Amino acid sequence: MKSSLLKVYESTQKRELPKHELEFGRTFTDHMFVMDFSESEGWHDAKIVPYEPLSIDPAAMVFHYGQSVFEGLKAYLSPQGEPLLFRPEKNIARLNKSNERLCIPAIDEEFLLDALKELIQIDQNWIPSANGTSLYIRPFIISTEPFLGVALSTQYKLIIILSPVGAYYKEGINPVKIAVENEYVRAVRGGTGEAKTGGNYASSLKAQEQAANGGYAQVLWLDGVEKKYIEEVGSMNVFFKIKDEVVTPELNGSILNGVTRDSVIQLLEYWGVNVIERKVTIEEIYEEYKKGNIDEVFGSGTATVISPVGQLDWNNYQMVFNNGETGNLVQKVYETLTGIQYGRLEDPFNWIEQVNVRRRVNKVG
Ligand SMILES: *Cc1c(COP(=O)(O)O)cnc(C)c1O
Repeated sequence: MKSSLLKVYESTQKRELPKHELEFGRTFTDHMFVMDFSESEGWHDAKIVPYEPLSIDPAAMVFHYGQSVFEGLKAYLSPQGEPLLFRPEKNIARLNKSNERLCIPAIDEEFLLDALKELIQIDQNWIPSANGTSLYIRPFIISTEPFLGVALSTQYKLIIILSPVGAYYKEGINPVKIAVENEYVRAVRGGTGEAKTGGNYASSLKAQEQAANGGYAQVLWLDGVEKKYIEEVGSMNVFFKIKDEVVTPELNGSILNGVTRDSVIQLLEYWGVNVIERKVTIEEIYEEYKKGNIDEVFGSGTATVISPVGQLDWNNYQMVFNNGETGNLVQKVYETLTGIQYGRLEDPFNWIEQVNVRRRVNKVG
């Protein structure tokens, strides 16, 4: 698909970016991107239109059997006021990997990245500029064929919506309290854990609710078979600094392959830190903790970038890392990654992608 096939219908009612503090995921911009799939036409009718509710048949398959995928990334404003994207091609490639798992037809990655940039340019005024704020980008695909049979849908809709978000950390990054989840599991090998699909989140809510009632921010997920191996923390990947090495669970088919995870690994290696991707059990973590070998634990993901774990509770054991304070390595990783994302620091990895590159589009109306 060529970018010239993208039609733009600009909104006649432009709103302003709210002045008040932005709660995550509650405010949306003036426009959205929409593209449809049908068997006869493939992905077609790509357009940017004013943000508005959808009209969808109640029999649409997504409502019943959950065949859907999504992505999450951010646009950041540089000190020069230029919108920047952080490794967006990774998110779009992952969208196709999720598509593959959910039997959703693949999208043209280059075309979608162009369309995304166009959408961000149109709603550029919605990227907040205060420290730590950004524009959250949510691409997603839903199955829309009206049919109650359990089968692959023959119709889909890909939509991208944008949401300005406030700073996650207002007064410096602060460590969270985590409970190891012994009963429920997030994903199993052979399941959909490696795909970004709504069902994984639906099945995680129960554990999350119980953890929240117990005063915890998130749960630490163990593997779905033996409940022994560490997988993720909430909806983040997880890292443990054990002595001078950093250990993170290896990708095993049930762990989500985070873009932030990959960036943390590359950054640490660039600094000469030994990063090991391997199986790691909760028992090993407890043993190393008792020996005083673990002082930094953190989660990684687009929303918070880095989230230090101050306390990890496992059965009756309480592990407190670095006196519940943010460690030096966590702080340095956070500052470097966000520095690169906002264009404040040099980008030796070529991770940053400019948004404002002029292309030809068909302006309609
Ligand atoms: C999205 C997600 C992550 C983090 O991925 P990033 O690309 O770093 O944002 C980690 N775990 C799960 C389950 C996720 O859905």
